[in-house]
Amino acid sequence: MDKSWMLARKGTTQYNDKCKAFVEFAVSNCTAANGKIYCSCKYCRNNQRHSTYYVFAHLTGGMRMSPGYILWYMHGETAISGPVPGRYLNPVATDATAGSTEQGGGTKQGRGTELGGDMHAMLRGYHDTCFPFDVFLIGVTIPLYVVHSVNEPLNIWDLIAIVVSVCGIIVAYHADTQLHDFVTRNSKQKELGKPMVPNLDKGLWNYSRHPNYFGEQLWWWGLVIFAWNLGHGWTFFGALINSMCLAYVTKLVEDRMLKQDYRAEAYRIYQKTTSVWIPWFRSSTIGGKDKSN
Ligand SMILES: [Zn+2]
Repeated sequence: MDKSWMLARKGTTQYNDKCKAFVEFAVSNCTAANGKIYCSCKYCRNNQRHSTYYVFAHLTGGMRMSPGYILWYMHGETAISGPVPGRYLNPVATDATAGSTEQGGGTKQGRGTELGGDMHAMLRGYHDTCFPFDVFLIGVTIPLYVVHSVNEPLNIWDLIAIVVSVCGIIVAYHADTQLHDFVTRNSKQKELGKPMVPNLDKGLWNYSRHPNYFGEQLWWWGLVIFAWNLGHGWTFFGALINSMCLAYVTKLVEDRMLKQDYRAEAYRIYQKTTSVWIPWFRSSTIGGKDKSN
């Protein structure tokens, strides 16, 4: 399959056609569970299954194809068979050539390139899709190692940590469920050719622009309370880095919202009236102070 389009500009007819070809390739080459295939968009990163309709919508809508995913091994491809974007050509050739030179055989070079290329692509795909996430996980889960390695009786702070963490999970669960329902409803509206609701500001989203992020933050900082209570307050750095990255992601998400014509105005008002992370009551004065921290 042709992969040369993967880093090309999104939104063109040609790009959309290639995404359609990817979905069709996946459907005919891998086992779809309940008609759902793994979504390779930058957000889902082959971790979530969706119907082909949503996978196509993700790839052509807000997200694009995860850039390192050039061997579609999650979708039934066993070897790279078509052109790939330029940036993936050179490292593959160099690695394979170096390998065959060390073995002292120039004749194996052709085969080396082919095998090395696929292996490299798979590793690179893994690297691009999972690596940053792994590093984050190590950072934010260090408090759990502390909990397991220090033996102390429970006290009031452990109780507080439990309450904070559990609240985090509950908030994140409900916020994500509400978001999912909203996106699903809007997709149906779009399918029917009806106008979409520009912005979700009901439920938890009435009190915070990103209640799902807030819930997630509560969970990780709750774990930090456990470790701090055991004399390992330094473990907060994992959660802090995570929070800083999420702050950056928040900015990216909001910038994207403001770029979509049908919701830009509604979102601007939402930004002015609703707290960014920490849930709070909406301010009624539209011309009021911007609560973007
Ligand atoms: Zn996706």
